[in-house]
Amino acid sequence: FEVRVGPLAQPDRQGAEILVSMHDVSKLVRLERMRADFVANASHELRTPLSSLVGFVETLMGPAREDAEAHDRFLPIMLDQGRRMQRLVEDLLSLSRIEINEHSVPTETVALPDLIQRIARGMELKCQAKRCAIVFDLDPDLPPVIGDADQLSQVFQNLLDNAVKYGRRDSTVTVTGRVVEQGPAGMPMAPHGAPHGPPHGPRRGPCVRVSVRDQGEGIAREHLPRLTERFYRVDRARSRQMGGTGLGLAIVKHVLARHRGMLVPDSVVGEGSTFTVYLPAAHRQADSAARSTSQM
Ligand code: ADP
Repeated sequence: FEVRVGPLAQPDRQGAEILVSMHDVSKLVRLERMRADFVANASHELRTPLSSLVGFVETLMGPAREDAEAHDRFLPIMLDQGRRMQRLVEDLLSLSRIEINEHSVPTETVALPDLIQRIARGMELKCQAKRCAIVFDLDPDLPPVIGDADQLSQVFQNLLDNAVKYGRRDSTVTVTGRVVEQGPAGMPMAPHGAPHGPPHGPRRGPCVRVSVRDQGEGIAREHLPRLTERFYRVDRARSRQMGGTGLGLAIVKHVLARHRGMLVPDSVVGEGSTFTVYLPAAHRQADSAARSTSQM
């Protein structure tokens, strides 16, 4: 608590009176601590590849200046470290851009099957390297969603990327898309007047549900609630080795919050993981058509 003490202004009365007010600042303190932790984590994540890069440059400019074999060996590692920093800075920028726009309502109409299949096509090389197949089971009548196509691409890029990255070799990633009557409990309500909301008051309406299932090692249950925290990794070394930044699922969570959607992770250790995205369906015209039909 923050306690403030000040004189009570009562000009017509004699004697001194003071006003003591107490303010609950625990939320502010918690936010400030989270911000400080985030800056510390981000700096640490950048410092490791940066120190290694500087070390290699010093070696190549000093003792190994004329050593062609050292150049051949170190340059690919240096490129790798540079790319790692690039990915990290790109993810940090994405997160801050999403936060800046968090309260603006997206307005594009987005067909998820097209968007997801385009992303999968862009991952062909990665899939070939891992001998992994992405298969689709998408309802042909899947309604569109109202959203920001670039940000929704980031959501499915991250989920498909993780499914291939953490999936076994010679395995299958399955993307399933359905329309469901309602999102899960805990899904944000569409506010009054929001483009994808109902005309009268908040409600949980029809949703598009897309799940990405892999056949990887799976994730122990206790980690599931923490996966969307920034820099949280189940296995830090493995994530780094795979080129992960630890920010992918944090980006997914923030984008979905802006779209009033939700991410539900599920996993069976030894069998694989399923990440399910719920987004409110853009159903206004269909809704009003259905309403007028039922009134006839
Ligand atoms: P990263 O860049 O490390 O992959 P993410 O934010 O995308 O970061 O994911 C956070 C962590 O969640 C990962 O480090 C990994 O431990 C775990 N994770 C995410 N997706 C999967 C998956 N499909 N299978 C197993 N573990 C996963």
